[in-house]
Amino acid sequence: MKIVIAKTAGFCMGVRRAVDMVLNAANQTDAPIYTYGPLIHNPQVLEMLETKGISRLDTIPQKGTGMVLIRAHGVPPEDEAALKTAGFTVLNATCPRVIKVQKIIGKYAEKGHATIIIGDKKHPEVLGLLGYAKAKGHAVTTMDQLKALPKFDNAVVVAQTTQNTAVYDQVKTWCAAHRPHYQVFDTICGSTERRQQEVRHLAATHDAVIVVGGRQSGNTKRLAQVAAETRAVAIHIESVSEIDVTALAGFRSIAITAGASTPNWVITDTCSRVARHLQKQRPVAGFISEIQDCLLKTNLLLALGAGSLTYACSVIQQLPRTMIHAAIAMLYVFSMQVINNIFSVKSDTYNHPDRAVFYRRYRPVLAALALSAGGAGLYLAYTTGVMSFFILLIMSLLGLSYNLKIIPQGFGSAQQIRRIKDIPGSKTILITMAWGIVTTILPAVDTRSMPAWHTVAFLYAAGLVFSRTAFFDIVAIQGDRIAGRETLPILLGEKKSFVLIRCVLAGVMVLLAGAWLTGLPFSLSFLLAVVPGMMLLLIHFFEKDTQISGTQMEFMIESSFLLTGLAVALL
Ligand code: SF4
Repeated sequence: MKIVIAKTAGFCMGVRRAVDMVLNAANQTDAPIYTYGPLIHNPQVLEMLETKGISRLDTIPQKGTGMVLIRAHGVPPEDEAALKTAGFTVLNATCPRVIKVQKIIGKYAEKGHATIIIGDKKHPEVLGLLGYAKAKGHAVTTMDQLKALPKFDNAVVVAQTTQNTAVYDQVKTWCAAHRPHYQVFDTICGSTERRQQEVRHLAATHDAVIVVGGRQSGNTKRLAQVAAETRAVAIHIESVSEIDVTALAGFRSIAITAGASTPNWVITDTCSRVARHLQKQRPVAGFISEIQDCLLKTNLLLALGAGSLTYACSVIQQLPRTMIHAAIAMLYVFSMQVINNIFSVKSDTYNHPDRAVFYRRYRPVLAALALSAGGAGLYLAYTTGVMSFFILLIMSLLGLSYNLKIIPQGFGSAQQIRRIKDIPGSKTILITMAWGIVTTILPAVDTRSMPAWHTVAFLYAAGLVFSRTAFFDIVAIQGDRIAGRETLPILLGEKKSFVLIRCVLAGVMVLLAGAWLTGLPFSLSFLLAVVPGMMLLLIHFFEKDTQISGTQMEFMIESSFLLTGLAVALL
């Protein structure tokens, strides 16, 4: 059986913007924060906001303090004014596409036009839009209701942004034939249209479509409706616990899609649950997948990759081909990464739900393993020289203190920087530096020489590690925002981060070409260049085709580090 995740599944621009706005506000102020009504229609996101202390206002009090966010659906203008009069600071998180419809209605209402909204009159977006129509608004959901309205001298017709495109096409045709003087606007959001088109296509090519998202979410309900109108079996679930996996037994292929307000972690969770069920049906593939999963969760694959990269860097630096520095790098990276995962359970609950469960369950064992590996790495470093030992000791202490509150309260910043982790963008930079030192500088220090290729090796390792870390930070952006982490992609934005990663990987390839021209053997330069080239391709596929799952992508990227050592071992 095949599982496919829709490319359009998950947060749309408007929802992402609203969630980012409220999380940024929560991470930057100690004042009380409220959302006016539910920020979006998704129970898991609303639960998450509650855990962050963001409360919900359902009615407007006469007096209040703090910040109120207006939901992505928008509100009537008089509600926004009342919130301000009550004393709140109002942050408008209304989706820009909804604001555009509000403006159309407001402009024509000023001129005395009636407004006809094709949408559910109880839906918050429609309630907000009606507020702009100056008591001349009408909301209808069916053709019969539209035909039953009086014939207005002047009217504008708009659709709720998440309306069914096929229904609105009928409205447009009817208006053109019977009310040609009405001004009809195309206000269905492009994101909604694309989702509905994709679900039609997926339903035509798969046996079943699972639609994940809140039952109150208009666009999710319509996705399920669109899927149900096809020959495929449509299953609408709000959370992964509702999946009846036994009912999926007879299907050969399943597509998973999600509404615009469904967060990534709920989609990932759903996909993992279905995939786990399938694995039970195919023991060999299931076994391979379990091993893959275990290598990733325990960080063994990453540690092996660090060892392999160290070996490759030693060859670039023309150092003796010994395994001791590869072993030191493996032990150090394993130790630091496991400790970091133990401290990152909060963001992993959203980014990697399975990994969070694993680290909660085996925390004492994993902590003991990490400390033992760190100790063993230090011992090995000591056997190679006192300088190596001290460098590794300092790096280990920095790594251990990364998650601890070591900076005094109020020190130098209003943003409560208490841990190294709190310094914006620190994770990517520190991991890159740490890997660069352990894979390149430590082996060179012990030889008591400065090999000619030292800089090339350092930049090669640092470039690959930077790209890998920044890429995983992009994948984890939702959970990191929730946990209040300021990673590089949060600071730069996803698009700029992807551009930066591409530039760095391309720079690594240019570096190798330059190294070849100045004396590095062609075969070595070529084999080493395969790895950044492969990473560029993987990232390209990930951006263009979300049908590669996060786990598959993680496995392939982590495995690419293994290739560096294997490639040079062949020479
Ligand atoms: S579905 Fe479209 S209109 Fe609605 S919040 Fe998302 S981007 Fe905005």
